[in-house]
Amino acid sequence: MRNTCVFCGGEIEHRTARVIEEIGDEIIVVEGVPAGVCVRCGEKEFTPATIRELERIRRERGKITARRAVPVVEYGKLAA
Ligand SMILES: [Zn+2]
Repeated sequence: MRNTCVFCGGEIEHRTARVIEEIGDEIIVVEGVPAGVCVRCGEKEFTPATIRELERIRRERGKITARRAVPVVEYGKLAA
């Protein structure tokens, strides 16, 4: 993995990240994903092995039992 961001040239820090996957109308949240994260713009980079694992998780998402309620709002419609 590179040490600088391809987009902004910022430094890449190796840590774990939260990945939000959208599959049609479905959304899954994957926590603790090993990633290179740009300290400047937040861009995330993954190794090919991590990308394969994320693809496997998408395919096998039916096995995920944990649920979390998330706020959902239509843009520009938040009540004052
Ligand atoms: Zn960057």
